[in-house]
Amino acid sequence: LESAIIKAEKLAILGQMAAGLVHEVRNPLTVIGGFLQLLQKYLKGTPQEEYVTLILTELKHVNILISDFLQLTKPGFSNRSRCSISKIITDVVMLVESEAFLRKLDINLDMATDIPDILGDSEQLKQVFLNIFKNAFDALSQGGKIFLQTSWDRHEKFIQVVFRDTGTGMDEQTVANMFDPFFTTKESGTGLGMFIIKKIIDNHGGRIEVRSIPGEGTSVTVLLPAG
Ligand code: ADP
Ligand code: MG
Repeated sequence: LESAIIKAEKLAILGQMAAGLVHEVRNPLTVIGGFLQLLQKYLKGTPQEEYVTLILTELKHVNILISDFLQLTKPGFSNRSRCSISKIITDVVMLVESEAFLRKLDINLDMATDIPDILGDSEQLKQVFLNIFKNAFDALSQGGKIFLQTSWDRHEKFIQVVFRDTGTGMDEQTVANMFDPFFTTKESGTGLGMFIIKKIIDNHGGRIEVRSIPGEGTSVTVLLPAG
């Protein structure tokens, strides 16, 4: 019970910190965006114009991430619509492909073609799969493979997405703690990835299961209800 209370307190603190951080970060980002747009005007027609355009695109992405993160501190979700898990995963794979290539990591895709749409927030679901990929990359610093498989259970009416990596794996204690906010075994980790993932999946009425063997690898299974 005590640990449940500590957990609840951690969550409350996290919520307050997030809201405060977003407030502090958003204002300078708005200023940066404004001056970048000005700079873009000055650089119109020069080879450097493209750099500013790229920075602005990334800035937009940061702003989206901030809004998403802020949503986690609120009850319920807003941007729900019909979305395709296959499309979401394809988009995420495109985002991580170049990094996988640089790190010489194989991504093995096995995607079912009969997967129905789900009602969800596609930006948030992207964040789920992106975070799982990031963790797999971290676990694969010595190289290896990632297998991604999607399937559709038409009886139970849920979509299953399985990520498997041949990375470092985790001991039981790490698996037990990995969803706690701020829990990290990495030097520069935030320990928020799995916490955010869990929250988004919970909000979609889904489930996440992790199985891991130290030295052999990890499989993360995401189950999402369809329809
Ligand atoms: P962070 O990545 O910032 O450490 P996360 O919440 O994403 O935070 O993950 C928490 C911890 O769970 C990681 O520090 C790591 O110990 C463990 N973990 C998560 N995914 C994997 C994985 N695929 N392989 C090995 N360990 C993992
Ligand atoms: Mg992470």
